[in-house]
Amino acid sequence: MADESKLQIAIVGAGIAGLGAAIGLKHHPAIDVQVYEKATELREIGASIALGPNGMRTLERLGVDNALDDEIAFRNKSKYPMIYRHWKTNEIISTDSHAGEVEYRHLTARFYRAHLQEALAKHVDPSRIHFSKAFESVTFDRTIRKLVITFADGTTATADIILGADGIHSPVRTFFVPTSSTAWTGWVAFRSVFLYSHVAHIKDLPDEANHFWGPDRTLFISKLGRDLFTVVGSYQADPDAPDAPYKDSTWNSDGDVDTLRDFYKDWSPLVRQIVDAVPSTRIYPNAAAHPLETWVLGSGKVTLAGDAAHAHGGAFAAGGSLALDDAWAFVSSILYVLPENATRKPNDAEILKALRIYEKTRKPHTDRVMSVVHQNNKNKVARYSQARELETDEQLRTRIKNRVDPSWIHEHDVQAAFAQAVADETTDQVSAGEQARL
Ligand SMILES: Cc1cc2nc3c(=O)[nH]c(=O)nc-3n(C[C@H](O)[C@H](O)[C@H](O)COP(=O)(O)OP(=O)(O)OC[C@H]3O[C@@H](n4cnc5c(N)ncnc54)[C@H](O)[C@@H]3O)c2cc1C
Repeated sequence: MADESKLQIAIVGAGIAGLGAAIGLKHHPAIDVQVYEKATELREIGASIALGPNGMRTLERLGVDNALDDEIAFRNKSKYPMIYRHWKTNEIISTDSHAGEVEYRHLTARFYRAHLQEALAKHVDPSRIHFSKAFESVTFDRTIRKLVITFADGTTATADIILGADGIHSPVRTFFVPTSSTAWTGWVAFRSVFLYSHVAHIKDLPDEANHFWGPDRTLFISKLGRDLFTVVGSYQADPDAPDAPYKDSTWNSDGDVDTLRDFYKDWSPLVRQIVDAVPSTRIYPNAAAHPLETWVLGSGKVTLAGDAAHAHGGAFAAGGSLALDDAWAFVSSILYVLPENATRKPNDAEILKALRIYEKTRKPHTDRVMSVVHQNNKNKVARYSQARELETDEQLRTRIKNRVDPSWIHEHDVQAAFAQAVADETTDQVSAGEQARL
């Protein structure tokens, strides 16, 4: 039951961002956090997820140390976050590197998504998560001075602040910004997770996370925790072509392993053996949206986190870490206006200030990520449209070597960004005060 004597924070969506924010706020004596989730239970898609050092550090900062355990987090022994191989020869063409000092426990890790979700959920009181609560709309009741959320089942809940953490198609976002819906990018992934025993027999199987690149498609492989293995095949199509394959497929729909095998039939024998061993696969047509003008919505009482705030569509395998950093920044911004020893609830101006600090901490960084993602998507589609078969082997190798270095995304320092946002907010206030005196 919501406690109205406290600052009521309603989190919509129990994904990585929503659970992360709920964990960060749960010990605060003056805050009542409730999580409203559309699904009937906590459930993840049968796929893998990578977290970079930023996400791993934030998990630790949130107290979710159990997620860093080798039992569920698979890290490359070589410490390279990613190894890039040639589709025909299997040669290593390039590697990503961590830019700064990264301790072992914070190295880039791959998880089975359900393992990560379980690790997060262990830190949230189950009575705080309300299932089958699909956000539909919200109004502000001037009499009680509360936001009133209406769910699809006709029930309502009140809140002082709403954090929309309801994923890439975010109903909270599209309620406030109807033009912010997503569009298919033309990128399609075939994702499979299965027991390692299926591939254990393959001679020369790399035992680290590797990304094989070919002229128009890629194949990612990695061990995961608890003896699992993942294979992710992906390719780029022209999203505007009326006959583009999988254009109308549903996210997370049944895929066909024979089609997957056919896709890689000209690749190296090693890749073909891996693909032959895949027992089943699912299809994920990828969508993305453009950055929002502001994250401060609903007259300064509503904001967004995770894919809801920046629907970048999974590029750079960064969404999980971005969602965790958003959660931490949101929590820190709330604690800034409502420290644990506060004697009263924050007023509207203070809530607005918290949301502004949160936006200043996160939006410049995620906008930059989004602009690189959209540029990359444009380049991929252009390459696809311009007879990709003309790419020579040398051009492919150069493309692999010249890819975007993602370390600025995976090692972004959210704590430093928050400190800067607080400093900027203080400066803005001082100058506003000075202007008022003039
Ligand atoms: C193909 C692909 C591959 C990816 N690979 C990676 C990767 O390797 N590494 C990585 O970091 N990221 C990856 N991502 C991105 C990553 O999965 C997301 O960025 C991350 O899960 C975002 O978490 P979230 O909490 O914002 O959203 P979600 O995990 O989507 O959670 C949103 C929650 O909101 C709920 N919800 C939806 N609508 C409503 C409603 N109306 N009311 C209430 N609840 C609602 C949903 O049921 C869900 O539980 C990938 C994404 C894609 C598309």
